Amino acid sequence: MTSGFEDIAKGNNEFVAGFTHGDVPGKPAQNMLLITCMDCRIVPHQVLGLTFGDMKVIRNGGGQVNPEVEKDVVVANNILECDRILIMQHTRCGMAAATLEKVREVVHANTGADVSEYYPDVISDQKAKLVQDVETLKNNPMLKSDVVIEGAIYDVDTGRVEFIA
Ligand SMILES: [Zn+2]
Repeated sequence: MTSGFEDIAKGNNEFVAGFTHGDVPGKPAQNMLLITCMDCRIVPHQVLGLTFGDMKVIRNGGGQVNPEVEKDVVVANNILECDRILIMQHTRCGMAAATLEKVREVVHANTGADVSEYYPDVISDQKAKLVQDVETLKNNPMLKSDVVIEGAIYDVDTGRVEFIA
């Protein structure tokens, strides 16, 4: 056990003690893929009223589509039966509050590393980025023609998911 994760291992032991989901299929019961932010206030399945086996989830800073994400989306749609794709950003997102300069400044101050080639995916306009990401997926020729793609914003203060794109 790596020092520093004792509490997490203990939590898993408790999870295992009540675990009853071993027979859940790997293909999503709700035929759904969620792309969302790594933010700790988003507990994806809980937010959407879902449970084990219901959907696939891809997470990154901001809940954004980029070429790496698109590669997995193609797999999810073609191989894993994800026919509905929801891109879900959220209010008070750190990736939308930060600037490239600020992130670089902090990383450099913390590590001393050369950050001149580091480009974190900060968001300047959340709704515009969401609309753009939905369009990007809709224009991906490797997604099936019947795929349903929507954009939404999760309100971290109310729990409400607003579908907007
Ligand atoms: Zn975020």
